[in-house]
Amino acid sequence: MMTSTSTIDHFIGGQRSPGASGATQPVFNPATGEAIRAVRLGGAAEVKAAVAAAKAAAPGWAGTTPLRRARILNRFLHLLEERIDTLAAVITEEHGKVLSDAKGEIQRGMEVVEFATAAPQLLKGEVTENVGTRVDSHSLRQPLGIVAGITPFNFPAMVPMWMFPVALAAGNCFILKPSERDPSASLLLADWLKEAGLPDGVFNVVHGGKDAVDAILTDPDISAVSFVGSTPIARYIYETAARYGKRCQALGGAKNHMIIMPDADLDQAVDALMGAAYGSAGERCMAISVAVPVGEKTAEALIARLEPKIRALKVGPGTDPEAEMGPLVTKQHLDKVRGYIDAGVAEGARLVVDGRGLQLQGYENGFFVGGTLFDHVTTDMTIYKEEIFGPVLAVARAPDYATAARMINEHPFGNGTAIFTRDGDAAREFAHQIQVGMVGINVPIPVPMAFHSFGGWKQSLFGDHHMHGPEGIRFYTKLKTITTRWPTGIRAGADFVMPTMG
Ligand code: NAD
Repeated sequence: MMTSTSTIDHFIGGQRSPGASGATQPVFNPATGEAIRAVRLGGAAEVKAAVAAAKAAAPGWAGTTPLRRARILNRFLHLLEERIDTLAAVITEEHGKVLSDAKGEIQRGMEVVEFATAAPQLLKGEVTENVGTRVDSHSLRQPLGIVAGITPFNFPAMVPMWMFPVALAAGNCFILKPSERDPSASLLLADWLKEAGLPDGVFNVVHGGKDAVDAILTDPDISAVSFVGSTPIARYIYETAARYGKRCQALGGAKNHMIIMPDADLDQAVDALMGAAYGSAGERCMAISVAVPVGEKTAEALIARLEPKIRALKVGPGTDPEAEMGPLVTKQHLDKVRGYIDAGVAEGARLVVDGRGLQLQGYENGFFVGGTLFDHVTTDMTIYKEEIFGPVLAVARAPDYATAARMINEHPFGNGTAIFTRDGDAAREFAHQIQVGMVGINVPIPVPMAFHSFGGWKQSLFGDHHMHGPEGIRFYTKLKTITTRWPTGIRAGADFVMPTMG
């Protein structure tokens, strides 16, 4: 277990490793503002070592039967179940989210492990008998080899688990580059995979920032890169990975709108908005950050119900069982979110609830900001256009459904969206024509389950494949199609026209 003074090592070839770089960066407890440990910052040398370990393990792992791989993932799943409290405590300590939310993210990650334990079924190929006379064809999916995952701070366990269970189940070796802001969860995952029976070198963790990422993107032995993080970095990852001939899925930022129609169950919509806007202090890529009430009456009623609830939000350290919302991840991020609130005021939005002044007794140095609500936000304002990634909800009023839908379709992000209505026709129209990857009908955070696939549209995803589910299997495998004819003793002679087999 990590102590409060420890340095967080890499995990290479089944061992903790200090690496060669010598550089470190402090990791903070966001509730107290204290530096609690340091993380090593790897670069080219550490990535090279991880690739070498993976290369040595790759043939053995690719040759392990899917059933045996699935059994290891099954044992890993049981360890996660038994030790969920330990992992959640580490997440809360470094990320800041409340413990129940940390357990929720682990649960969602475990569902992907559960999905991946079906590897023998998921990897089954297709066969066609007699594609031509006495000619058969079969298709199969083979592992890519060595693949890498680069993950954000906001889900230090779940987002890596969107990736590596599926990659490992498919027979690949995996190199994880977790966020340097809350890196400890990744080491617990590595330890428990090893304990579950994963051979050394199949799963490696290299900590660090841009140097480690660039070493991954340019390494010729890494075949594919999965990324989740902000849009500018996602675009960079996608472009660089493509330049170096790698398959890439790069998920970016978000600005998720929720339309509230005049016929919606307003109490249900308000409860949904509270959780979706302020849960995890708004540091979720599926958080609702823009509420779009349709019609002035709906808007007035919505604001009237939201305001007292936001003022009553229980903000506190993630370890407080009463807390509904914890701190932001770092001081820099706190300053950025406060800066957005300043910008909203300067640009003329009405600040209904201001979270900037929040002070918590005993946690004066923590990175806290209270729940914040803006009304009369317009589409030209910075707080509408940019992702804030904090507990700041913007209400942007729309006169009718068509205007509300147009706002969403014209926004450069397209991760998630929701509509609250009792009108099936409006809901169907919304689901059909809205330009967003994940859509909720009276569901505020429509995160697909593990056996479906997760991903946004527009600037929320660069690449062709969404994460986990069937798309995950496709991403982490390459297709091979074999056409077979056995000698029959009948000779047709050489044929120089394009084979048609019909
Ligand atoms: P980030 O983009 O700052 O960092 C993500 C990863 O990229 C980290 O591992 C980081 O070390 C690395 N990185 C940072 N700067 C880099 C650089 N210049 N060059 C190369 N690598 C670099 O994101 P974050 O702040 O950790 O996470 C929050 C962001 O992630 C938000 O924008 C959020 O919307 C997004 N996110 C998206 C999804 C999704 O599914 N679309 C899910 C979770 C988070």
